[in-house]
Parts: sequence; structure tokens; C-alpha cells
Amino acid sequence: MPITLADLGWSAARERAFADPAAAGLVAGRVVLEHNHVYRVLTAAGEQLAEVAGRVKHLAEGRHALPVVGDWVALRVDPLGARSQIREVLPRTSSFSRKAAGRETEEQIVAANIDTVLIVFGLDVPVNANAIERYLVVARRSGAAPVIVLNKADLVDDVDAAVDDARRAAADAPVLAVSTRTGHGMEAFEPYLRGGATVALIGPSGAGKSSIVNRLVGRELLATGEVREWDARGRHTSVHRQLVVREGGGLVIDTPGMRELQLWHTDDVVGETFADIADLAASCRFRDCLHDTEPGCAVKAAVEAGDLDAGRYANYLKLQGEQAETSKRRSERALADAKRIGKIGSKALKALQRERQRQGRDS
Ligand code: GDP
Ligand code: ZN
Repeated sequence: MPITLADLGWSAARERAFADPAAAGLVAGRVVLEHNHVYRVLTAAGEQLAEVAGRVKHLAEGRHALPVVGDWVALRVDPLGARSQIREVLPRTSSFSRKAAGRETEEQIVAANIDTVLIVFGLDVPVNANAIERYLVVARRSGAAPVIVLNKADLVDDVDAAVDDARRAAADAPVLAVSTRTGHGMEAFEPYLRGGATVALIGPSGAGKSSIVNRLVGRELLATGEVREWDARGRHTSVHRQLVVREGGGLVIDTPGMRELQLWHTDDVVGETFADIADLAASCRFRDCLHDTEPGCAVKAAVEAGDLDAGRYANYLKLQGEQAETSKRRSERALADAKRIGKIGSKALKALQRERQRQGRDS
């Protein structure tokens, strides 16, 4: 059966937003792989090889607006079968980013339009509340809904106890216990794949992400994920898609970039994940209390009274520090850019410098 846009996660809202591109004769498609600036894009009329149109490249600030795996794009399909042109990247419902390689603090989006992110841990090691909180911070900021997955359930006697431990750190994110080895609990993934929904996996190496992808995609990985083609030199090569359409419905994104995520965003995701600490902080003596060495700190008092777990508090301080550091480097970069372009008024420059000093004091 040919693939429809609905199979790829197309929605009524996207259809409405696509009215103008459609009227201009453009075709909607979803990026399944990028390699050397050539994109493989699935459309209702099959897969297209595509390149980004010069106009879009020009508009792309940094790498934000260039397409990534999972993106919906508007294509100009060449009637004679030459490469299609990507004319537009459609608005993203979620995106995962990491700091680009190298010293520069540049955001690099690694995958887009993920509905649910499965945060996978292996029960071959004890449940680590800090790690759960850390990955939740990353997941929440992406716009995708997080689900905690405890894999290797076959290795523990008391799965319920492990799930309870994870639940305490997971706030309102669901917790699933599964085993790819026995197949236990695997049906719990299905609701997250219904209606052409897209899932992706993050989590520590060795937790079982690849095993879960293989289980979810099953033999379809060979059928649709891996196709053999002749390359330019006439050699037979196999192409691994990073977005796979499951035969049973739904899509799975598995990119190397998703495996190297770090904290990036400066919005107060830490505060969101540690809502209990934010509540306590309302009673600190100083409004800008950092809950570190300040007197009259309600957060530290709660730790001393045993009302707030000391490990959770320590992890909060650590993530808070990382968030401040990233935010500082970002504003330094913004300042350097502004100076370089020479487009910045002296008033705005002073405001940026003040901001930088303030962040310098905070971190
Ligand atoms: P990834 O690094 O997160 O992709 O992890 P892998 O999928 O490569 O799995 C890491 C190791 O854990 C491999 O040796 C798997 O065979 C093993 N593994 C994966 N799932 C399970 C499971 O449910 N139970 C057990 N006992 N081992 C598993
Ligand atoms: Zn405080």
C-alpha cells in the first residue's frame, strides 16, 4: 500500500497551513534523512531526493531554519526527475537541539516534530533520579511529551519498586517498564504511535534504545528503513533512514544527534522540573536567592529539616549552574555578533553589557 501523508503524521492543521504552498504548486513531504546537504523526503507520491533552494539557504539564520530529520517541507518537484527543491521548512511542533560541535555556542537542531520522546534507562543499574530529572529538563524544552522507559525489566525481581522509584523523580511523566528481551510491556508503546504519531528515543548509552527501535520497527526496518541502491560509482550501498514509518502505524526517529543531547535552552526549564523547589523559594528571605549560601533560605532549611531530598537539591544546584553558564555564553556571543555586524546602537550595547555582568554575578 502506498504511503499517505496521514501515515507520515500530516494533520488537518498542517493541511490548512499548507494552503499557500499548495496553491503555488508545491508538494508536502517529510524529511527522513539528510546526508551532505542532500535530503531524502517522503511524499504522497513516493520518495524524493531534494536540495535546499538557494533562497531558503539565504534566509536560514545559522542552522535553525535548515531542514532536519522529521521536518515537514514544501517541495518543488522537478517534472523531469532532477532533484527536488526544498522551498520552505514548515513550522515545527517540537524540536530537539544540542550545542553544535566546537567551541562556539551555536544551537543545532537535530530532529523535529517529535510527539513523544521515550527516555530510556536500563534496569541493569539502579534507577537514577538525577539522570531522570536531567533528561526531563531536555525533553520538556523540546515541546515533545516525555515518557520514562525502564528497560531490561527481566533483570530485576521487583519491577514495581523500580517503577515507584522512577515515578518519584518523573513528576507527571508516565513510567513504563519493558523488556526487549522477553517482549514484556512492549504493547505500552502503541498509544504513543497511534494516528501517525512520531516517537524518538534518548537516554544513556547501553540502556537499550537500539533494541527498542528494532522491536518497534521489527522487520519493517529492513523493508523500509534499509534500501539498497546503486551509488554514483555504481556500487551497491544501503541507505539507513533516520525516520522510519512503521508498518503497524506511527513513526520512529533514530538519529545519532539525538544521542548526544546536552542542556541548551536558557528558559527556566530547571524551575519547571523542580516545581517543589520553586514553591519553597517563594519563602526565601531574598527574592533573588540562589539557595546556596544566602541566609534565610527556605530551600536549604527544607533540606536540613529532611523535607527536601539532599540529592535532589544537589542536582538542582548543578543544573541551575549549567543553565546559567549556557545563558552567559549565549549573551556573550550575541554581543560579539552585534559588535561585528556594527549594527548595534550604543544604548542597546550597554543593555547587553549590563545583562552580561548580571549573569556573570549569578553564575
Ligand atoms: P543503546 O546503547 O541504548 O542503543 O542500547 P542497546 O540497544 O545497544 O542495548 C545495550 C545492551 O543491552 C545490549 O547488549 C542489549 O542486548 C542489552 N539489552 C537490551 N534490551 C535488553 C533487555 O530488555 N534485557 C536485557 N537483559 N538486556 C537488554
Ligand atoms: Zn533560597
